[in-house]
Amino acid sequence: MIGKGVLEKLPAVLPAMVPAAVKVKQIVWETDDTFTLMLETSALGEYRFSPGKFNMLYAFGVGEAVISISSYFWKGREIFHTIHRVGIVTIALSKLKKGGTLGLRGPFGSYWPSEPAQGHDICIVAGGIGLAPLRPLIYTLLDQREMFGRIILLYGARSPRDLLYTVELEKWQGKNTMEVLSIVDRGDSAWKGHIGVVTNLFSYIRLDERRTVAYVCGPETMMKYTVMELEKRGVATDQIYLSMERNMKCAVGFCGHCQYGPYFICKDGPVFHLPAIKELLDRKEL
Ligand SMILES: Cc1cc2nc3c(=O)[nH]c(=O)nc-3n(C[C@H](O)[C@H](O)[C@H](O)COP(=O)(O)OP(=O)(O)OC[C@H]3O[C@@H](n4cnc5c(N)ncnc54)[C@H](O)[C@@H]3O)c2cc1C
Repeated sequence: MIGKGVLEKLPAVLPAMVPAAVKVKQIVWETDDTFTLMLETSALGEYRFSPGKFNMLYAFGVGEAVISISSYFWKGREIFHTIHRVGIVTIALSKLKKGGTLGLRGPFGSYWPSEPAQGHDICIVAGGIGLAPLRPLIYTLLDQREMFGRIILLYGARSPRDLLYTVELEKWQGKNTMEVLSIVDRGDSAWKGHIGVVTNLFSYIRLDERRTVAYVCGPETMMKYTVMELEKRGVATDQIYLSMERNMKCAVGFCGHCQYGPYFICKDGPVFHLPAIKELLDRKEL
């Protein structure tokens, strides 16, 4: 039975439940199974978002998927979403062509706060598609480069063919921009870089633990081990931020699908300050 409180909240959330029709400006394949949709935002009016936020993308007649925004907000009148083709909705989205239409609701969720990193070193740790939600943060940090100390990106993918944004990774690499270290689970004959899991990369860097703020996004197991590694090196729990993933439906804290302990990932997350979720991260099958 629907409670009275729930019905009262309904009018407030309804506008956020209606998708706007947006057009595909371009679709770029980043890897064999991952593509970036560049969307026209003129239908959305004044569209602003902070790094780490997500949209609900609706493939008409198929369904909706939660997809993070992977572009910087002022870069033109378009927004990017980098999408790993895994199931029914993401396959339908991958079949869209230039000029095609999809539904968009958002932006939703919390964001990567860059203020706590001002005057500090930054360690960004990304696994697989986890680099996509971190990319707007990277743009923000590089845009205000003088406000931060070292910026280190540790990035892991399954294979060299699965590395995202390879042109940008090269561009970002530089003494005065970012220290970029990549690693893959399995190499190929051309790969001369590191092989293993992303946490192996910690042995190639020296962190000044007292002044390092960390941002982490990737599969949950990878994030757990990354947190352990950061803490082992002395980075304080309250200097770490993570983006969590759960299945979602409404995206506005109404349906409860994405409940994570006392939180709803859609409205309290996806970006969490580690102290808020540390206990939950250690709990199995939550
Ligand atoms: C806050 C948030 C941000 C996200 N941002 C992005 C993003 O920027 N880009 C992106 O590609 N995805 C992102 N995701 C994940 C994305 O929402 C799901 O992959 C998507 O809903 C899958 O929908 P589907 O209908 O295509 O697959 P489904 O039909 O729901 O799933 C098909 C199969 O794939 C498996 N599967 C589902 N998701 C994944 C996954 N992520 N990895 C491996 N297997 C999976 C399922 O278990 C199932 O077996 C995000 C999720 C959250 C919660």
